[in-house]
Amino acid sequence: MPHHTHDHTDDPPEPGRVHEAVDSDIDARDDWARRRRKGIPTDKQLLVVACMDERIPVEEALGLELGDAQVFRNAGGKVTDDVIRSAALTTQFFETTEIIVVNHTDCGMMSASDEAVVEGLEAAAGGDLDDVDLDPALPELDVGEATLADWVRMTDDIDEACRVQIELLRDHPLIPDEVTVSGYVYEVESGHLRRPGERVADQVNERV
Ligand code: ZN
Repeated sequence: MPHHTHDHTDDPPEPGRVHEAVDSDIDARDDWARRRRKGIPTDKQLLVVACMDERIPVEEALGLELGDAQVFRNAGGKVTDDVIRSAALTTQFFETTEIIVVNHTDCGMMSASDEAVVEGLEAAAGGDLDDVDLDPALPELDVGEATLADWVRMTDDIDEACRVQIELLRDHPLIPDEVTVSGYVYEVESGHLRRPGERVADQVNERV
């Protein structure tokens, strides 16, 4: 008889135990399939708000796996009305307790002037943007006294922009005070995250 080398060779097999593993697997699949209906939060109870830029490996940069977090990506990783809607819902109803904003260097939101972007959108609309429904399912929604440039939200300084997004989330009445809000700048040139304002590349190129 060949010698078995695994650890439990000397233990007598417990009778009738295979079903426990099978049941556990079935329960895990059921939890996954009906997670929202069962009120199970994301594995990290986390919402990520990030720029939609194709160079940002959001999950990899934050060390996340499938199931860990909800991820909202838009142009610039800006806290827009729909970010507030999504953040309010997940923090109020899905037990999300943490929000992380990820902005990044060389963002497209820094690549043109406000005027150029508004002009381009007006050309696409074939007229005045005031006549365009910003949310076609909700025509009543408009920017009020704000300008379309305010709505587009181009960026001058990505570190400052990141700080502002954090504050907008922290201060919003629909997001509970207990929710932790952090933000990082992903450097496309180095492939690493930094905290906003901590540009090591600048600091190591000057005499101390
Ligand atoms: Zn971007």
